[in-house]
Amino acid sequence: MKIIAIGRNYAEHIEELNNEQPSSPVVFLKPDTALLKNNAPFYHPEFSKNIHHEAELVLKVSKEGKYIQKQFSHRYFDEIGIGIDFTARDLQDQCKSKGLPWEIAKAFNNSAPIGGFLPVSEFKDLSDIDFHLLINGELRQKGNTSMMLFDFDSIIAYVSQFFTLKKGDLIFTGTPAGVGKVSIGDHLEGFIGDKKLLDFEVK
Ligand code: MG
Repeated sequence: MKIIAIGRNYAEHIEELNNEQPSSPVVFLKPDTALLKNNAPFYHPEFSKNIHHEAELVLKVSKEGKYIQKQFSHRYFDEIGIGIDFTARDLQDQCKSKGLPWEIAKAFNNSAPIGGFLPVSEFKDLSDIDFHLLINGELRQKGNTSMMLFDFDSIIAYVSQFFTLKKGDLIFTGTPAGVGKVSIGDHLEGFIGDKKLLDFEVK
């Protein structure tokens, strides 16, 4: 399986990192070794002094497809969860300043914790989904899918031009404002609506 991730999909997050608003989705990949499941602890890597949390809604791909037209995108995912796109911001800044690819900053081991998923049928309106992240019990990020620059269907149509989607692939759909550094001992809890789907510690 593969993990496809979208960057710069929420205006306020683009502003907090002083990035430009993209005219098409910013896409990157993480390998399957980035997955961290079952609320296992995240062991802070030694290569970074500034690992940021990016709480994101995650789509689970339900069948194979490529060149999916936007009006059919909804047929290609059947579950939505919440995950963290951990980012070594210090390494990413170095890569960006040299115009180099970001992989070491984004795709390292365990950089994609995921929690439980909810079936799409449980959502009344996919363009109005609230989600939030608590760290040590404090609200640190909250978003709503109405704030996305590129909605789920647009993302699937766009990325499937380049990458064949396969059943079980995951798509991280971008983070809202409020990203910040995590430290050893932090307790992260991710919610969609009032349902807690993700709950793990940084060790
Ligand atoms: Mg992200």
